[in-house]
Formats: sequence, C-alpha cells, structure tokens
Amino acid sequence: MPQDIHDKLIMLAKRRGFLYPSFDIYGGVAGFYDYGPLGSQLKNNIETLWRSFYLLNDNCIEVHTPTITLYEVLDASGHVEEFTDLTVDCTTCKQSFKVEDIVEEGATVEQSVKNHRVRCPVCGATLEGAHPVNLMFSTTIGIGKTRDAFLRPETAQGIFTNFHFLYRYAREKLPFGVIQVGRGYRNEVSPRQGMIRLREFSMAEAEIFFDPQDKTHPLFKKVQENKLYLFDNIKEWKVSLKEAVNKKLINNQALAYYMYLTQAFLFAAGVDPKKFRFRKHADNELAHYATECWDAELYSNRFGWIECVGIADRSAYDLNAHITASGTDMYALRKFDNPKTVTITKIIPKMDVLGPKFKGNAGKIKQLLEAMEVSKGTKKITITLDGNKIDIPKDCYDITEVKEKKAGEKFVPHVIEPSYGIDRILYCILEQSYHEGKKKGEEYRILKLSPVIAPIKVGVLPLISDDRLTKLAKEIDEELRAAGIATYYDDGGTIGRRYARMDEAGTPFCITIDHESLKDGTVTIRERDTTKQIRKEKGELAHYLRGQIS
Ligand code: AMP
Repeated sequence: MPQDIHDKLIMLAKRRGFLYPSFDIYGGVAGFYDYGPLGSQLKNNIETLWRSFYLLNDNCIEVHTPTITLYEVLDASGHVEEFTDLTVDCTTCKQSFKVEDIVEEGATVEQSVKNHRVRCPVCGATLEGAHPVNLMFSTTIGIGKTRDAFLRPETAQGIFTNFHFLYRYAREKLPFGVIQVGRGYRNEVSPRQGMIRLREFSMAEAEIFFDPQDKTHPLFKKVQENKLYLFDNIKEWKVSLKEAVNKKLINNQALAYYMYLTQAFLFAAGVDPKKFRFRKHADNELAHYATECWDAELYSNRFGWIECVGIADRSAYDLNAHITASGTDMYALRKFDNPKTVTITKIIPKMDVLGPKFKGNAGKIKQLLEAMEVSKGTKKITITLDGNKIDIPKDCYDITEVKEKKAGEKFVPHVIEPSYGIDRILYCILEQSYHEGKKKGEEYRILKLSPVIAPIKVGVLPLISDDRLTKLAKEIDEELRAAGIATYYDDGGTIGRRYARMDEAGTPFCITIDHESLKDGTVTIRERDTTKQIRKEKGELAHYLRGQIS
C-alpha cells in the first residue's frame, strides 16, 4: 500500500525520537502517544510560545489545579449530564463507534442504523440503536469512605472554581484572563486518528472574564486592521477584525481579539496560512455551555480540516452553575459613579435558633444565608454545605426589606474561552512542515519547523573526526548551550549524513567546524531551508543565532 505523508511522518517521528506509541511493548492502546526527546522539547517550545502570547502580550495570570476533579464540580458544570457522544454498538464484534464518525452526512442516525445502511466498520455486521455515552474517566478519592471524582475533561473548571480568589488577585477589575496548561482526559469511543483523537492530551486554555455590558478589549484598536481567515461553511474569505465586528460576523470585540491572538500564535508557530481557517459553529454544533464558537482549523493531508482550537463565548454559564451549586459568592462588582440608596431584600439569620440546631456549622450557614439572593416571596431556602444540600427551616431566619447605600451592583462575569489542543497543533505543524525529495539519487526528508519551536536550534558538526576539530567543535557546542541555545553535537558519519539527520530533526541551522576554523576562528553556518552557507566569527555565533531563532 502506498504510504501517505501521515505514515511517512509517523515513521520519521519514531525514528528521530519525536513520538512513540504508548505501551508499545504490551501491544499499545489507541488514543495514547508518548513524546520522545525531540517531541518533548518541541511540545515545551510550543507551550512556551503560547504562554508568551497570553502571559506577556495579553497580561494574563496562570494557575495549576488538580487533574483529578471532584464529582460535584463536573456535576455543576453540566459535564456529568451533557459530556457525551452518541454511540452505536456492533451486534457481533461488540465494538462501539461514535455515530458522527460513521453516519453519512445529512442522514439521521435512526434512519441509518435502522435501515442497516451503515454497518460495523470492523466486521460488517449490523449495529444497535444509538445511545449517549459519557466520555469522562471516573475514579474515587480516598480509601474506605471515598468521594467520587473524574479525570478532568478540560482544565477550565479549575479556573472557574477559583474565580473569587482570582478576582481578588486581579484587584477586582475586569477584564482579566487566567490560563492553565495541562492534561485533559476523554475516554473517546473509538479513537482511530492517531494524535488527533487522544484519550489523554495536553490543553492550553485561557478563561477571560468580562463585564457582559462591555465585551471590548483594550488591545483591539491596535490590531483591528489585521485580517482574520474566516470560513462560514460555504466560502473562505479574509476580513479585518474591525469589519467582522461591525458587520456582526463576530459578535463582539473581545471574541474577535482572541481569534486574532490565536491566528498570530499559530502563524508564529509555523502554521501554513494556506492550511488555516476559522470556522463558525452552527447552532446545533455548540457545546452545552457555549453561545458562540469559532474553531481554528488546520489542514491535514490525512485527516482533512481538524479543529485545533475552540474559541467560545461561554457567557455566565459556568460561574452561575458554581454559584448555584456551591453557594459561593462569585459575583463581580460594577461600581456606580455615585453611591445609590437602594431597597434590597435580605435574609437575617437568627443565630439563637441556628446555633442549637446546627452547632459547629451554624457560623458557615449564617454566612451562606447572608450571601444569598432572595425575594420577598422566597418560600424555601436550601444551601449546599460541604457537598450536602440542607433545607433551612423557616424559624431560623427572617426575610426583610432594608435600605442600603450601594457603591455598585453585583453581576456574574461572562467568559470568553480560547481552548487549544496542543497535541493536534503539534501534529498538524509536523505534517505541514514535512517535505521530501531526492538528493543525488537518495531520498531525503526535511521538517521545515519554525526556528522558534524547533527542538534543536543548531547542529554542531566538525567537518571530519580530527581531534583538533572535534575539540574546537565541543567548545563551541558548550558555549552555545551556556548561552541558552539548544544544540546537538554530532561527529559520526559523513557530513552529508549528519546534515540529513539534522534536517529530519527540523534543526534550522548547522555549524560546521573545518581547518579554516582552526586558523581564523570562523565557522560555516548552513541554513536548513535554503542550504545557503555563510561564514561567521565563532565569537559572534550566539548573538547571531539568537537573533535568527527568536
Ligand atoms: P473542546 O473543549 O472539545 O473544544 O476541545 C478543546 C481542544 O482540545 C480542541 O480544539 C482540540 O484541539 C483538543 N481536543 C479535544 N479532544 C481531543 C482529543 N480527543 N485528542 C486530542 N485533542 C483533543
């Protein structure tokens, strides 16, 4: 069978230490990949570049939260109920399939399965009716008295559950953005797409909190003339951010700005603009939490257009859900120009009744009651304490109207979320940078990785294995690494073979040390994509290369 780019790339990736199939010695499992030495460095570099866009350009803050997440969190967020894929099972070989992967476009699932128009892709037998399957891996915390939990399907909830702390950290000013980079887990039904559909993968997510009355962005004006590459499910076009927002193609400035940031990051990482587009979600595609969503899609020779980043307007969905479920005050304050006197309805807890009834918990219950929003007609009050719902008897509180001076009004912030799948981006970049051809009758392959993400920046190669040359080459290699430049020293085999190895590793520059170098201290720098060679003083190398790489 002729190999396509995907197969050749995966072979190269294994040979050069980018990617290994996980648990290979035990037969492997679909949906998992290991990163080898070059892959790990490539992934680190992509994540570092991503962080520079969000932490430096956009002034976000970063958090790290557990990947094991309490049941209550994902119940409140809607994932227990909604994070499902419609699945069909084979009547004979018992394998399961995601309906979306096997039903022809346009046909309904019921029609296709009932009429046996679609059959099991593995054994050809008939399929059983479609049912939703939750994609989260479940687990328990503790031994004996345990608590239910899941491996997180996204990093976002760790940010939402800390909102009240982070809002305080951000000096109670909106907008502000919080990022998290880490693992996400989804028990995908039948992953058959290599790096594209993994069961454990790396995500880089940003949650940007806004006042819903002001979805502008402070940096919008600066970038508004730049063009976004849009696709509206019919045609592709380039349109400036300004025009896209004015014409309501994109709902607000903030969403358009994060689309721009995403595009700029992907282009900086080396994505081919011809293999990039933003596609808008149709209403029936939107996730349970989203009101508008654009996917950044990258083109893969094997898999077609792949969603690599989802940029969603999650409105107040998540914070509202956690306020309701946990009773925590996760509101922000919109300050009035002048304080106003307003009439509000409040719960006045009666400690003389609460105390004897709830003992040690009475203080906490008092706080929760005081923070609750009520109206005069509220009949029943239920609070959540340590995950337990408690009905509060009527004799424990009064509901009264009081006049208060208010500095502002409380509201639930809205969230714009750019969510990046690092592994998909990495795979698509590898595929897009793969080039092959023949050189002097021999096959050669190059990964034209952008210098900023390339795992090795410089190959250091003595022309021949002569002691004086290898000594000088090793000195140069050490100096470059001390200057923060990732190098690879290689003195094995012909210089042609060593260049070829570096080309396959995606190394943008090679330095060759020859006899001339011993005389005048100059070396040759060979550029990977053009094979152009220039000579430089060895003392100038670090400065010159740093300029080329950043
Ligand atoms: P979502 O929350 O579904 O929008 O996912 C956010 C991003 O995570 C997507 O844009 C993908 O890049 C990535 N992603 C989602 N599911 C997978 C998966 N099974 N394997 C690898 N990456 C994924």
